[in-house]
Amino acid sequence: MFDLDNTLVPWNHPDLPEPLMQWLELARKHGFEICILSNNSGPRVREFAKRAGVAYIADAGKPQTAAYYEAMNKFSASPEETVMVGDQLLTDIHGGRKAGVYTVLVLPIAKSEWWGTRINRQVEKLILYMLHRKFRFSSPVQKKEFHE
Ligand SMILES: [Mg+2]
Repeated sequence: MFDLDNTLVPWNHPDLPEPLMQWLELARKHGFEICILSNNSGPRVREFAKRAGVAYIADAGKPQTAAYYEAMNKFSASPEETVMVGDQLLTDIHGGRKAGVYTVLVLPIAKSEWWGTRINRQVEKLILYMLHRKFRFSSPVQKKEFHE
């Protein structure tokens, strides 16, 4: 399961970059089923998913778990064999953890975001800072993010 905005493409970006198309194709070849799980509106997500040739759930209401279970049901997948990849701790990752799936937090592609997300980022920054202090992450990319 993938978040869309600032995970696969910049926020509200309409185009599907060629490298992303190739990556999705490669993932499918390796046997992965792909579903976009986005809190963005139906038409934007539907158009993107159609062009990418992947399943989608729009207006997903993350971090509520209903959409996560709906996506798993689409592919008869269990939480143990499902991964949520997203750029937001408070929606993508928090919801994924509640649904019992493996989660991967990625750095956001761009700085441009919905106003609600910009508020969440402030809380997220604090949580990530605390996690960084507690677990002493070693990645230079993560360090850069925490010290911004
Ligand atoms: Mg996002």
